[in-house]
Amino acid sequence: MFSELPLHERLLKALAELSFQQPTEVQQQAIPAAIEGRDLYVIAQTGSGKTAAYVLPILQRLMQDDSKPLAPRGLILVPTRELARQIDAEIRALARFTRLQAVTVYGGVSAHGQIKALRRNPDIVVGCPGRIVDLMGRGVLRLGGVESVVLDEADHMFDMGFLPDVRRILAALPQKRQSLLFSATMPAAIRSLANTVLRN
Ligand code: AMP
Repeated sequence: MFSELPLHERLLKALAELSFQQPTEVQQQAIPAAIEGRDLYVIAQTGSGKTAAYVLPILQRLMQDDSKPLAPRGLILVPTRELARQIDAEIRALARFTRLQAVTVYGGVSAHGQIKALRRNPDIVVGCPGRIVDLMGRGVLRLGGVESVVLDEADHMFDMGFLPDVRRILAALPQKRQSLLFSATMPAAIRSLANTVLRN
């Protein structure tokens, strides 16, 4: 039962509206540890419920401490625009009874609308590494307030050549932060990334 997990009532209400009744296995294992603030390396396939496994803890932690420090406080890195859009939709659904806002950024479209959206100081940014590096370079995305970072489909980000951008982004984050690494497989490159990124 989701109600047995340490989740805020507003998140439980959203889960009920979505008719999510039972947490999936990855959700059962990842949610409590991630809410505690631990770093995680999760092997999970698409369809396992992996998105909610990291979105719910991030929402929960942002709600627990809403002292409104520097935005964004959550950063989710993904390999493709399609995945970014899906995650954005899932965040909207899960956060519908909260005040938390997410903005999604990816390449292949004008940056103008994304820059405008970032000016509203979203709590969470979801995006593809290339566009994020671009927006950081323009000075419109500052990542010094990020408390939790997710690398989703890390193996695909590696396959698509995004690891240099990912490393550049990670270097711009505060040292003291939570890192959540999700991957369907565990190639050597991702294992070595995990060794440098995960601390707790
Ligand atoms: P994902 O693995 O994150 O791509 O999720 C696969 C699909 O399962 C998505 O459409 C989710 O909205 C849905 N989903 C995630 N968690 C649950 C759950 N606990 N119960 C029912 N559906 C879920």
